[in-house]
Amino acid sequence: MRRKYLHINLNTRKVEEEVFAGEQIARAGRYFIAKTLLESGIAKIDPMAPENPLIFSAGPFAGSNWSNANRTSVGCKSPLTGGVKESNGGGTFSLALGHLSICGFTLHGAAEDWVIIHIKKDGTVEFDRAAAFMHKGNFETAALLHEKYGNKVSLGLCGPVGEYLGMLAGIAFSDTERRPSRLSARGAVGAVLGNKKVKAIVVDMDKMPAFHDRNKVITAIRAYGNRLQHDAMIENFRSNGTAGMADFTNHIGGLPVNNFSKGRLVDTEQELLKMGGAFIREQNSTRGGEITHACMPGCLIQCSNVYADENGKEITSPVEYETLCLLGTNCGISDPDDLARLNNIANDLGVDSIETGATIAVLMEAGLGTFGDISFMHHVLDEIRRGTENGRLWARGTAYVGAHYQVQRVPVIKKQAISAYDPRVIEVTGISMQVTAQGADHTTGNVPAYDCHGKGVDELVDASIKTQIATAAVDSLGLCIFGRSVTNVSVDLITNAINDALGTRLDSEFLNSLGRDTLLYENRFNREAGFSVADDELPEFFYEEPLQPTNKAARFHGPELKVAVDSWWEKNSN
Ligand code: SF4
Repeated sequence: MRRKYLHINLNTRKVEEEVFAGEQIARAGRYFIAKTLLESGIAKIDPMAPENPLIFSAGPFAGSNWSNANRTSVGCKSPLTGGVKESNGGGTFSLALGHLSICGFTLHGAAEDWVIIHIKKDGTVEFDRAAAFMHKGNFETAALLHEKYGNKVSLGLCGPVGEYLGMLAGIAFSDTERRPSRLSARGAVGAVLGNKKVKAIVVDMDKMPAFHDRNKVITAIRAYGNRLQHDAMIENFRSNGTAGMADFTNHIGGLPVNNFSKGRLVDTEQELLKMGGAFIREQNSTRGGEITHACMPGCLIQCSNVYADENGKEITSPVEYETLCLLGTNCGISDPDDLARLNNIANDLGVDSIETGATIAVLMEAGLGTFGDISFMHHVLDEIRRGTENGRLWARGTAYVGAHYQVQRVPVIKKQAISAYDPRVIEVTGISMQVTAQGADHTTGNVPAYDCHGKGVDELVDASIKTQIATAAVDSLGLCIFGRSVTNVSVDLITNAINDALGTRLDSEFLNSLGRDTLLYENRFNREAGFSVADDELPEFFYEEPLQPTNKAARFHGPELKVAVDSWWEKNSN
């Protein structure tokens, strides 16, 4: 089986087509990003130089209706962290790439003037003027683009913050109803797109592409779907969405509240937790919102939602756990309606809601606002939208803003905001965020329910690295990690399905080696970029301030983790 890989040179507007075959297609995701970035010597360049390539990858099942296999990986050297970055998002972008038998493309160089890249059904690529779409929010931009290109396209957008190279900027992809609300959010990949002067990438949609053995692939899609339908974890995602995680983290005391100063928003024995999945599901259902929603066609997990107001009118889609916390509880918000409105503004700006929320909480910590002050939050987002002097300063992200205002409590690792899992309590995820080359990215190795009590560093590092490997593998295949309770125990099904899709003869060790190799490339990239064990440290306050109500402080420093990590790889080398 063959797929096209496009090299789009923005300086010359020339497009070179490379043919990927068999296993190359199976490796075209996060693995390919890490390997390409390392081998091209990108580690040592300025991430805002035009030479920093921006890589978009789809998985081997892209273009099919495999439940959750159409995620898009975006990779580059991150201008936020200075390290390797793979940031993946849902939506229909990779579905469209798959329809055109494209497994990925790289944007090289930078355009002279702002462009729209149109990847067309007939195989050609056109460069259109972007002037009419500049300085607009993503919803208006998407509506205008659909007016021009029709509805049978999927979009990748650089929002207004990405236009002025704000480090909060992600890249927004269309969801199933053409909302540009599914983001490759982390690591400022949107600033790299803005630096290349690409306002939007429009991809025509067509139909399911050819596979080596189409019938067998369709059988595997059904078999995987059947497993999803009978899995308790998946059922939980379907019922409460990712917001259900807030009920759990609030219960165990690992929810970020008021700039990581508390681990629980409310005692649910005394008070209702409104910022959680159970409440949101109930309220949204009563109001006529959608309590389940698929961000890509065919997803049977449907963890997304469409959040409605008291009149049943859509406020935003989706309300996700990490947004609910970082832009919500961590800024002192206790009503999900307030959060939903802010969430929609963040979607319109095309910014990472984790980095944005953490930045606003640091501004509150600095005394510019108070926790829970909704109007201050709207003011900050408005300044960021307009790109005022303050807006541009605040759009540089949590680490920069913390240093600027000389704030002591700045929750970042490798200059990226810590996600919604307080590392003092949710220790394995904390370790993953510390040691990963990706910066404080929980998705690299999230194990929130792991019982850490009485366990030492080696045991926790073991859990972290095993999850990091499994995650790197599914990221490399364009699979959404929310299917992992099924994916991780369906290695043979998935490997056989890849073989049926691509005509390969991969064995059941393939996924594991794909994940391992990806991590090793990413770690080497960061070493070459100048990272050391000192960068694996949590901010001091996590060690010094016990978190209430559990009274736990962080236990592991970078050097101790490095010894445990090195020892793990030594013991588990092939
Ligand atoms: S599980 Fe959720 S995020 Fe993942 S593909 Fe389905 S709807 Fe999208």
